[in-house]
Amino acid sequence: MKCPRCHGIEDRVLDSRLVRDGRAIRRRRECLKCGHRFTTYEWVEETMPLVVKKDGRRELYSREKILAGVRKAFEKRPVSVQKQEELVDEVERFLLSRGEKEVSSQLIGEEVMNLIKGLDQVAYVRFASVYRQFRDLSDFIEELKALMETPVSQPYEREKKVKRPRSSAASKKASSSGKDDYPKLPLEEDPPLEGR
Ligand SMILES: [Zn+2]
Repeated sequence: MKCPRCHGIEDRVLDSRLVRDGRAIRRRRECLKCGHRFTTYEWVEETMPLVVKKDGRRELYSREKILAGVRKAFEKRPVSVQKQEELVDEVERFLLSRGEKEVSSQLIGEEVMNLIKGLDQVAYVRFASVYRQFRDLSDFIEELKALMETPVSQPYEREKKVKRPRSSAASKKASSSGKDDYPKLPLEEDPPLEGR
């Protein structure tokens, strides 16, 4: 496996273990050229459920897509890339644990949002504001206020209380955009693969 640091292809496996309920193998590897240690995963690709979008179309699950949204939310926040990756791992564990062949994009978004909230509240508000398409600034501030008043330990009941009236213009906009699926963030549309 190509070393992410020196691009050497010789390595030795230090440790292998089953993760994600036995659906994946995690291997710690050490580059024989530069000594860098890195982790790889191996899993059966078909186990991820198909993603059902709001308009009923199905698409293949894309870890990259979710990761792009998560990265955007945590931009300039004190949350390590490692933690962000783990968050997406957890989303995947959740999706796999359902044992369904399909999953709604909405459910994925909610799960991502929940997990972000547990890590960083600024990132959460950032994510939620985009994901839920707040109609205007006052909605955003309402959400922010509610968040400040909610002790961190509480589950987010508060979200039901926040009223978000939808004008026909807003819902029209939402449905015609065609991208109300995954986390709606600027990077969401087919992010470039960043030269891996
Ligand atoms: Zn190396």
